[in-house]
Amino acid sequence: MSTKMKIRTTIYLDSAIQKEFRKVCDREGVSMSQKVESMIARHVAVHMKGNPQLRLETFFGDVEKKCFRCEGIYPSLHKVEFISGLIKGVCSECLKTDRERGVVKRVCGVL
Ligand SMILES: [Zn+2]
Repeated sequence: MSTKMKIRTTIYLDSAIQKEFRKVCDREGVSMSQKVESMIARHVAVHMKGNPQLRLETFFGDVEKKCFRCEGIYPSLHKVEFISGLIKGVCSECLKTDRERGVVKRVCGVL
């Protein structure tokens, strides 16, 4: 995430959505601000003009991801929910190993 200056803003949400959103963020170990900023940055990047890769780098710097297990750098990772409830990005090799160890609850997407 960018280290640029942050500004405070206010948004209005349906209370039930806000409550569930907080639960999701808690489970993922991120603040609601971090999550909303990330979603907005991606949305803006998609709707800006220019090369998509360069647009994402504007907001995220290096778009390559680090595997939670082996710390290898990959262009994308599997977003895995572990039996513990922890949700992290892991590479295909580590996902295979974790599946064999029986610690994967589910794969919930791609990072
Ligand atoms: Zn890995």
